[in-house]
Amino acid sequence: MADDESVAAVLAGLTVPQKAALCLGSDFWHTAPAGEAGIEAVMLSDGPHGLRKQPQRGADASLRASVPATCFPTASALGCSWDPGLAREVGAALGAEARAQDIAVVLGPGVNIKRHPLCGRNFEYFSEDPHLSGRLAAAMVDGLQSQRVGGCVKHFAANNQETDRMRVSADVDERTLREIYLAAFEHVVTAARPWLVMCSYNKVNGEYASQHRWLLTDVLRGEWGFDGLVVSDWGAVHDRVAALRAGLDLEMPPQLGVSDRAIIDAVAAGALDEAVLDQSAGRVLRLVHRSRDREPAELDAAAHHALARRAAGQGMVLLKNDGVLPLAGAPGLTVAVIGEFARTPRFQGAGSSQVTPAHVDIPLDELAAALPDATIRFAPGYRLDGGSPRPGPAAAPGPAPDSGAASGPGPATGSGPDLAAEAVSTAADADVILVFLGLPAAEESEGFDRAHIDLPDAQTSLLARLAEAVPGLPIVAVLFNGGAVRTSTWDHAASAVLECWLAGQATGSAVADVLTGAVNPSGRLAETIPLRLADCPAYLNFPGEEGHVRYGEGVFAGYRGYDALDRQVAYPFGHGLSYCTFSYRGLRVSQAGSADAGDLAVTVRCTIANTGGRAGAEVAQAYVSDPAAAVPRPPRELKAFAKISLEPGAEREVTFTLTARDLSYWSAIHRRWVLEPGEFRIGVGASSRDIRLSAAITVEATPPALPLSGTSTLAEWLADPAGGQVLRDALGTRADGRPGGILGSEELLAIIGSMPLATLAGFPGLGITPGMIGTLVAAVIERRAEAT
Ligand code: BGC
Repeated sequence: MADDESVAAVLAGLTVPQKAALCLGSDFWHTAPAGEAGIEAVMLSDGPHGLRKQPQRGADASLRASVPATCFPTASALGCSWDPGLAREVGAALGAEARAQDIAVVLGPGVNIKRHPLCGRNFEYFSEDPHLSGRLAAAMVDGLQSQRVGGCVKHFAANNQETDRMRVSADVDERTLREIYLAAFEHVVTAARPWLVMCSYNKVNGEYASQHRWLLTDVLRGEWGFDGLVVSDWGAVHDRVAALRAGLDLEMPPQLGVSDRAIIDAVAAGALDEAVLDQSAGRVLRLVHRSRDREPAELDAAAHHALARRAAGQGMVLLKNDGVLPLAGAPGLTVAVIGEFARTPRFQGAGSSQVTPAHVDIPLDELAAALPDATIRFAPGYRLDGGSPRPGPAAAPGPAPDSGAASGPGPATGSGPDLAAEAVSTAADADVILVFLGLPAAEESEGFDRAHIDLPDAQTSLLARLAEAVPGLPIVAVLFNGGAVRTSTWDHAASAVLECWLAGQATGSAVADVLTGAVNPSGRLAETIPLRLADCPAYLNFPGEEGHVRYGEGVFAGYRGYDALDRQVAYPFGHGLSYCTFSYRGLRVSQAGSADAGDLAVTVRCTIANTGGRAGAEVAQAYVSDPAAAVPRPPRELKAFAKISLEPGAEREVTFTLTARDLSYWSAIHRRWVLEPGEFRIGVGASSRDIRLSAAITVEATPPALPLSGTSTLAEWLADPAGGQVLRDALGTRADGRPGGILGSEELLAIIGSMPLATLAGFPGLGITPGMIGTLVAAVIERRAEAT
């Protein structure tokens, strides 16, 4: 751990130019050394699902020029594991690889919310839900940092699209920011204490994130207690001095000679307090200290590959299954494997997270190995680039040309016969057809958003042709895609659908594990799969125009919005099948402590049993609803979950503990979390739309009093205990016993209730004059003070 005194001592010996230099990197990936003070440069590398260490010190335009590393499942896949323990293991393995390569910081994980399915970078993010994203990311940071390698949670904040990402202003109200877009960052920062936070490129409500003081200092440090270093996203700094003042410590990559000069000049001119510079330079020194004294790690590539395989299997989501899966490897079984992706799997996305995989498992080969007694036939069916492919069958495994890896001499190229016809004849007398489908690599990447959520026509028409040509033959669709794809137009033709996402270098073996039942699927959707794009809550507000994207759906992101709009979806958030079944019973909800004392604990217990014939894992999900709230709230919000493994016939009690915060909303008026007293519903189930058990609880809490003034409405005055009493006292009682002045007529009250008191004071005959307002406000303050 860094020694604050030694940091202070080093700082004291540095000049302003030396300190300015520390606040910039020295090249694309390194911090600046301060040789005179014995401070070495440390290296930062991408992230997040594998190490992308570029061998040269400078920038290299090629994203592929990185040293071989284990390519773990992308966040889209790991997110569906709903398994923080697994995310921790992946983080620790990544940390070990970073240590072996002398990397101080891994630039990840990314915890931006999947606001819209078209975001080109959704494969790098965990979920549409902040609770799930935060829990998985915190575990990953914890794992990374267990190796004394810094985690760098990114991109802070509201970087939910790639369109115009360098400039667009994400216009988001504070409640939505707090509840949805900041919440995962908040959890990671407070629970896992990452060494770094990376600011995003975009603006947030008109201000660049890199110079957003409220975000980088007031909230991040002031409220959440962040004590690490804030680094810019690569190229996110526009005004180095403004960014420094706002709380951005390290600029990457450095604008050498420009940014350091600007800092030095600003200090000389008195425009930048040297103490601000000291603070940021000190944080860079602290980072260097933190990454010192590590033992170099021994890299166990085979163990990491095995972990990548296990993690990939855990994230695969069985969307649909009429019983065809798992495949029974009986002798004589003929399996038709159709689809170029079976020999050229897609397993990661493009952009800064692109890893050079150490080794790639090919699904076709792995299936053949897993089903030694079966006959496997292959036809590519379509080509990845839309042209005419090389027809089947597969040859020996070979290296990957582009998106991943190919078994045989490379993916289909050149002219060839009708691939769909060839696929149909390959499938004709099989017992089962496995069709590998997915998004072409060119369709999703960092840097741009997707244009639609459909699979390529060549793939869906291939599926339709197979279904028509071999009616009754079970078809299993296996999907490789980073962002969600539409399934509703074709999944009726499939007996089973397995969503693998982009699951890393061991995709091939992991998919064989799941298809054959060696691994019982336990992935659950971390994002909703809509019936159609136009159903998405953010549909009308994505990706914005003329430099602004308005988060008009507010807190109703993902399932929160689908549920509030009562829209049918293809597969709901949290959904995923298994080869066994689970029952839920015995929900018990109890309360301890008190909201007002700050120690409310709602304990939720229920028993889950494995009612199937094989071992499996269930993800029990706890959702909170506040049916009568002062503000519009989503019908259900995920607040806890647990993944539990059970042998057949076994059962286990799961316990969740919810806090006041889990029941609260962010109030824009009070600028704090507010817990309203009254009834809440707690639902526990297997998806957001499969609530198996539910119970109501009544919570006692004293919500904060509304500040009352002349602009508060009459209804607000009357709803407030102190305000109502003060008003009634001031207006007195009439001779006939009715309340005086404005309060005398029920009929009138209904009409003028929404008028501000100051407006009513201007109307004659209502008993209130402009001069009274100050006195009334003072009386309310006094009464409230007496009550506390
Ligand atoms: C990406 C970051 C990445 C950085 C360094 C940026 O373009 O947004 O996620 O860590 O480049 O490669």
